[in-house]
Amino acid sequence: MVGKKLMSEDKSKYLIDGSQGKWEVVIGLEVHAQVSSKSKLFSGSSTTFGADPNTQVSLVDSAFPGMLPVINQYCIEQAVKTGLGINAQINVYSVFDRKNYFYADLPQGYQISQFKNPIIGEGEITLDLKTGTKKIGIERLHLEQDAGKSIHDLDPSNTFVDLNRSGIALMEIVSKPDLRSPDEVNAYVKKLRSIMRYLGTCDGNMQEGSLRADVNVSVRKEGDKKLGTRCEIKNVNSIKFMQMAIDYEAKRQVKLIESGESIVQETRLFDTKKNETRSMRSKEDAHDYRYFPDPDLLPLNLDKNLIEKIKKDLPELPDQKKERFIKDYSLTPYEANVLVSEKEVAAFFEEVIKTADRKLATNWIIGDLFASLNEKNITISESPIKAKEMAILINSISSGLISGRAAKEVFEIMKDTGADPVKVIEEKGLKQKSDPKELEALIDKILEENKDKVSQYKSGKDKLFSFFVGQVMKVSGGTANPQLVNDILKKKLK
Ligand code: ADP
Ligand code: MG
Repeated sequence: MVGKKLMSEDKSKYLIDGSQGKWEVVIGLEVHAQVSSKSKLFSGSSTTFGADPNTQVSLVDSAFPGMLPVINQYCIEQAVKTGLGINAQINVYSVFDRKNYFYADLPQGYQISQFKNPIIGEGEITLDLKTGTKKIGIERLHLEQDAGKSIHDLDPSNTFVDLNRSGIALMEIVSKPDLRSPDEVNAYVKKLRSIMRYLGTCDGNMQEGSLRADVNVSVRKEGDKKLGTRCEIKNVNSIKFMQMAIDYEAKRQVKLIESGESIVQETRLFDTKKNETRSMRSKEDAHDYRYFPDPDLLPLNLDKNLIEKIKKDLPELPDQKKERFIKDYSLTPYEANVLVSEKEVAAFFEEVIKTADRKLATNWIIGDLFASLNEKNITISESPIKAKEMAILINSISSGLISGRAAKEVFEIMKDTGADPVKVIEEKGLKQKSDPKELEALIDKILEENKDKVSQYKSGKDKLFSFFVGQVMKVSGGTANPQLVNDILKKKLK
């Protein structure tokens, strides 16, 4: 831990409390998002995850001499779609460049990327934070090829190379240095991922490496306008690790500056086991990538009609859906946020409220259903409880068929088995007794058996009312309709 005694964080605004005052943390992210596409950016090879090593490699991907890249139009459309989803400038003219470097898993000796003329320019993403919304600027989005994968842990003295990933299309999405805390980074990555999932342009699966980020971090004295020197933490593949790396790195930088040293711009690695960042290479001797336009590829000239068509076919995105949910369903911004964060959750909710009460549906989905999904670590698509059954359960409460408490009992069974709520209610005998005659008879019997308490109540011991309610509930096995019980008891005890 760096300077644990000296430093703490101000949670309302993420500031590092140093020995010489408070420090603001500035973060910019370069997100690498794998384009959802059946085939690679410049070849017809499959992109299916988890195939046997080197089974999805064409002569182009393995850089055989004389092979020519052919642009995959679908990947271009996916990039344009994403650009529109982040409210960005779509550049009709863009260029593919070679970024030259040597690596064992990069057979071409260069990566085809976009440098001076990316396909997508400036845009923005709106974050939904506890404190309100905040806009984060996007610098650019460009297309590039992924490299292969070196495997170091299969053999004690050899490294293996798997080229299945080689040539897969990535979108590099570069943010402006607008982020100010690990929490904002969390919200940013989640929002970006949500937008791409809505669009179907990246599955956002971080376990499979479909979404990873280089995290740039600098610090400056609170109130300073000038940006500090940044360090870049390479290739972080989980949001939690991003947050841990930022926290560590910011404190490291504060400590260095406060002890009179200066930050050297460099590339660092985050060691997830030791929870620390370590220097990888400094920018002083950074590679000269010798970018130049790839002579095998013509500049890209997008057809304006294509852009218009993609725009017209865009699905409703999270921000729009959130607005609609607030307006049409009278949800709070918080509730709307939670319900639109995943397309499937929003669809589930809308299916449920086709027949069930909105307020109850919101509470049951955000509360009990989410808790059970978290507990099982599954998504809503994998939920044993489907929207139709959820609606039936909710309607059983609204109609007074079962009590809220009984509904919890039914839910407990449904969440494990996906059972039909109607059957569970039947089998467990949870139906509320809502027949006034039946309840009256039950209550008469209880009052008869507790004559002493009845007279105590009548002589002013009001608290005994709940005793009678409790008795009715007990005798009825919790199935008496509470409202009716109340009404009848009040009448009888007058
Ligand atoms: P490079 O290509 O060398 O990594 P860029 O100018 O493209 O450099 O910036 C990369 C990322 O670094 C961007 O996301 C940007 O927001 C971020 N960044 C730039 N300056 C700073 C800074 N002083 N502190 C934190 N992040 C920064
Ligand atoms: Mg960079």
